[in-house]
Amino acid sequence: MRYSVLSLAWNAITGHKSLGPAWRDAAPRKTYDVVIIGGGGHGLATAYYLAKEHGITNVAVLEKSWIGSGNAGRNTTIIRSNYLLSGNIPFYEWSMKLWEGLERDLNYNVMVSQRGVLNLHHSDLQRDAFARRGNAMRLHGVDAELLDRDQVQALVPYLDFDNARFPIHGGLLQRRGGTARHDAVVWGYARAADARGVDIVQNCEVTGIGISGGRVSGVETTRGSIRADKVALAVAGSSSRLATMAGLRLPIESHVLQAFVSEEVKPLIDHVITFGAGHFYVSQSDKGGLVFGGDIDGYNSYAQRGNLPTVEDVCEGGMAVMPMIGRLRMLRSWGGVVDMSMDGSPIIDHTPIDGLYLNAGWCYGGFKATPASGWCFAHLIARDEPHAVAAAYRLDRFATGHLIDEKGVGAQPNLH
Ligand SMILES: Cc1cc2nc3c(=O)[nH]c(=O)nc-3n(C[C@H](O)[C@H](O)[C@H](O)COP(=O)(O)OP(=O)(O)OC[C@H]3O[C@@H](n4cnc5c(N)ncnc54)[C@H](O)[C@@H]3O)c2cc1C
Repeated sequence: MRYSVLSLAWNAITGHKSLGPAWRDAAPRKTYDVVIIGGGGHGLATAYYLAKEHGITNVAVLEKSWIGSGNAGRNTTIIRSNYLLSGNIPFYEWSMKLWEGLERDLNYNVMVSQRGVLNLHHSDLQRDAFARRGNAMRLHGVDAELLDRDQVQALVPYLDFDNARFPIHGGLLQRRGGTARHDAVVWGYARAADARGVDIVQNCEVTGIGISGGRVSGVETTRGSIRADKVALAVAGSSSRLATMAGLRLPIESHVLQAFVSEEVKPLIDHVITFGAGHFYVSQSDKGGLVFGGDIDGYNSYAQRGNLPTVEDVCEGGMAVMPMIGRLRMLRSWGGVVDMSMDGSPIIDHTPIDGLYLNAGWCYGGFKATPASGWCFAHLIARDEPHAVAAAYRLDRFATGHLIDEKGVGAQPNLH
């Protein structure tokens, strides 16, 4: 069924009786052309673009829990393409372009809100770094504006401009950046992939990867064996666990990243704002809660919950730039397991095992990448060659030294 204003109105007055499930809860079949492990945004987007762009519909997405139960449903929903390095900018900008047309493409309201992403700077040195990043973006045709202190104050007057521990000197603004509703992205891709014949199999954990003669042959799951010529990993924080099943060791560490939402207040913040002198960022949800986050917890973990020192650190960051946040009560906090790569950039590539493909290393920032990640991963799986905008995301770059280290900090996950 296509969603439209008319169908919405019709269902509203007829008690939603003609609405069926948005996608089938498929049972796994014995054989597929492609098995995608991981029913997060990336796995589902990959399945959708495999079907839509390449006509490959004999595809299963296997999810050990419910779709969107991982980071796709736990993130702070920021989308942007304000990167510095040429390995990254075209990819994230392609993602932004896909976001801009996603609702029409999926026929689903994923609530893309281009409210602007503002990175604050607090020193001359940081301004120069932001100017460099903004120039790199503009050279690639991406929108970027370097604002001085007065321009930032006119835009977001509620920040602390007078008495701050780290005075605000200005900011880098990407007006096309913003947020999208994370659950809706998962549901929209699931519905659209299902409509093209993809099987979305929930409660189906992959427990083994079959390999014979250096080629992948299928997967073992809690719901039986499945044969497939091509198996694609899109499991974010579980990447190293799944890779181990295939005898691979990845340049990835899993860390907890927490996020927080406050009680609801009247509309206050109409941008995404990041503090430049510590790790804190904030936006306001449509329900009114302030959604904010900061640094990873800093130890390796597969537990989807964090610890209090990071809560304190994030709240201190908030207080330093926006003291009024201290009057708010925190409603909820949660954690997700992020796949931190050793240069802070992702991997979309073959593995050394024929037919086994890897999509991982998304660190803090894979939500914004969801459409382009699916698009490029589908291209790789279908054609066995990398998509032009993701050509730098090779697995062997960690051996050859072609790193994509946006921050120039080396192999230290907490600094990416
Ligand atoms: C707190 C937090 C805030 C974030 N904020 C942002 C943000 O503002 N902007 C941004 O761009 N990014 C953000 N991110 C990062 C972003 O959420 C992730 O990079 C992205 O969601 C990862 O891709 P995914 O959606 O496919 O992963 P996931 O949703 O984690 O999907 C992987 C799936 O694989 C499944 N799986 C694992 N093992 C198996 C198995 N053995 N068998 C079957 N299935 C399995 C999991 O259950 C999971 O559902 C944030 C992350 C967190 C945790």
